[in-house]
Amino acid sequence: MASGQKIFSSLGSFFFPLSCLGCGKGGTSLCNPCARSLPGTRKSPIPGVFSLLDYDDRTVKKALRAFKYRGDREIATVFGELLQKTLAQKIRGDAATILVTIPPGKKRIRAFGFDHMRRIAEYVSSEGLRYEKETLYRTREAPRQADIKKKSDRLKNMEGVFAVRNKDLIKKKQIVLIDDIATTGATLTEAKKALLRAGAKNVYCITIAR
Ligand SMILES: [Zn+2]
Repeated sequence: MASGQKIFSSLGSFFFPLSCLGCGKGGTSLCNPCARSLPGTRKSPIPGVFSLLDYDDRTVKKALRAFKYRGDREIATVFGELLQKTLAQKIRGDAATILVTIPPGKKRIRAFGFDHMRRIAEYVSSEGLRYEKETLYRTREAPRQADIKKKSDRLKNMEGVFAVRNKDLIKKKQIVLIDDIATTGATLTEAKKALLRAGAKNVYCITIAR
């Protein structure tokens, strides 16, 4: 099953010729004009979490799914550029700033074979920000947040899920923590707690969509 999924995702573009998820133009997953006009989120912000795009927008939703489930590299680049631009505006990066991603659950890796957020982090790190992969790890497998409706249950579900592997790497450092989508912010809140407990100076949470 897992390898079948992987083969399917790598052959996806062979069987289905590329066309823009926004306007349908051929030859690209997301053309430049559509990429430039992706709308920012209009939902009320989650305290302490900044989100780049509006998940209620049809094209944003399709693009995020293509990125998350097919690992679409063109879209990863679009999101990476957007994140890079936002970081340049909002965060004063220096040698003591480190990019950290939320580690995917084992089920996700088994089903899709790749860590989508790592692709964005690698793009951003190629532009200068230091990325420490596998800083966080999961202490246990939690049921999927998407399957849990109540906010308090989502918080409880994520309690103590994350821990820091190499505390020396993040001690007294400013952390930029990124994830794909924020619904209640429970995942980011827990990951942030783990980073602060391990000695991080401060943690900025950013998601691609909300
Ligand atoms: Zn387009």
